[in-house]
Amino acid sequence: MGPDSRNRNPEIKYTKIFINNEWCDSVSGKTFQTYNPATGQKLCVVQEGDKEDVDKAVKAAREAFKLGSPWRTMDASTRGQLINKFADLVQRDIEYLCSLETLNNGKPYNESVLDMEGAISTIRYYAGWCDKIHGKTIPIDGDFFSFTRMEPIGVCGQIIPWNYPVVMLSWKLGPALATGNTVILKPAEQTPLTALYCASLLKEAGFPPGVVNIIPGYGPTAGAAIAEHPDVDKVAFTGSTEVGKLIQQAAGRSNTKRLTLEMGGKSPLIVFDDADVDKAVEIAHQALFANMGQCCCAGTRTFVHESIYDEFVKKSTERASKRVLGDPYDEKTEHGPQVDQEQFDKIMNLIESGKKEGAIIQCGGKRFGSEGYFIQPTVFSDVQDYMRIAKEEIFGPVQQILKFKTMEEVIQRANNTHYGLGSGIVTENIDKALMFAQSVQAGSVWVNCYDATMAQTPFGGFKMSGQGRELGEDGLKEYLEVKTITIKIPKKNS
Ligand code: ADP
Repeated sequence: MGPDSRNRNPEIKYTKIFINNEWCDSVSGKTFQTYNPATGQKLCVVQEGDKEDVDKAVKAAREAFKLGSPWRTMDASTRGQLINKFADLVQRDIEYLCSLETLNNGKPYNESVLDMEGAISTIRYYAGWCDKIHGKTIPIDGDFFSFTRMEPIGVCGQIIPWNYPVVMLSWKLGPALATGNTVILKPAEQTPLTALYCASLLKEAGFPPGVVNIIPGYGPTAGAAIAEHPDVDKVAFTGSTEVGKLIQQAAGRSNTKRLTLEMGGKSPLIVFDDADVDKAVEIAHQALFANMGQCCCAGTRTFVHESIYDEFVKKSTERASKRVLGDPYDEKTEHGPQVDQEQFDKIMNLIESGKKEGAIIQCGGKRFGSEGYFIQPTVFSDVQDYMRIAKEEIFGPVQQILKFKTMEEVIQRANNTHYGLGSGIVTENIDKALMFAQSVQAGSVWVNCYDATMAQTPFGGFKMSGQGRELGEDGLKEYLEVKTITIKIPKKNS
């Protein structure tokens, strides 16, 4: 795939609600605008789903889940082939999907390619699981024979964010479909377009009607309707901790539905004095600035040992200042715009708070260019734990560099947060790496790397960063119920 494959003007083919393998207008007749974050210009109007559309989708998903339906009677291996067919179609249309993702999200085309490749791997990983999901036979006390079946939960609501639209769709659909559930997925209001295109691919692949339904719309309306719905058996959500709490409450008020929540973070990355400083600077730079800092596990608190602190700050500033910003379709571009005005304002507000509270701005801190939502890569040094920029999730290109002296101190400070999603350490000393890995309260620990998240390894949060896990076998289990079947037998003879 060369630069010629980049289409700055991909045709927008699907803007309606996808229910029962059909495209429909919203029941209310409402629509909403979607934008290009690189220019701030409107792209098109999309049908706006709300409660009535969610009701329709839940009915379709329930029908598709009925015993005896094509989906429930399909051989597990055939289900795997179907999911692989979906991956084939994403692969076939990868250039179009990358162009559309970049148009609607603003991320550099090169990052869209990485996203799409990651999404395809995740879909294929879960396709492979379909005919390998099985229960146990259990040596039960008494004259009984007991075994378990792993069964799908039912109708699953999936509410996803805008930072990795197709990746998040793959993390959600992969395990839900591999285990035989049916789905109502709501993409984020900022980035509905690639999810809708994926709906067309699911239909083309041959998924029966109602197995996957995709409802574009806003969180407090369509999203809340999914979370509140008494006939939705599970909700998987990725987004802010604030909204995750609302979803928990809605689940409690309705039918105590199963939940998987992947929420915010304020992840620490520790750099020890034995590290190769140049390598550590690059790891910390990518840990924070990848995807314009719009990553829930971004390494946003860079703790650096005092003996290399000044050198580290200087080199990190040089690296951030060299980051190439601009047209997301340009081959050389490393860094695009933030997703929308709201995120842009929130980040600028936090940058101002950092300055006011006495952190030193080494580079950046301002808007880049005159259109769209670009923010210059920003590095703060002399950051103290009490500052807002050290405590709140920024979700933007703003690196906080903090100074530490001892392992004990840095572990305590790293854990001094309500969050616990990612974490990292750069050191040549295996004892330090293991000591940190055992002590840090986080769902992932990356040693001498950062955000090496793959389909095979579980991902999720401690504390207020989440509940449950996605990816890997653990992610699969979140979509299964365990049923125990016990049969009275005449007499055990062995
Ligand atoms: P961010 O702050 O990164 O935009 P949000 O948590 O607001 O993250 O959004 C993540 C997803 O949750 C989006 O699809 C959004 O529409 C949805 N959402 C927002 N508010 C609610 C809500 N009250 N109930 C259900 N979903 C919601």
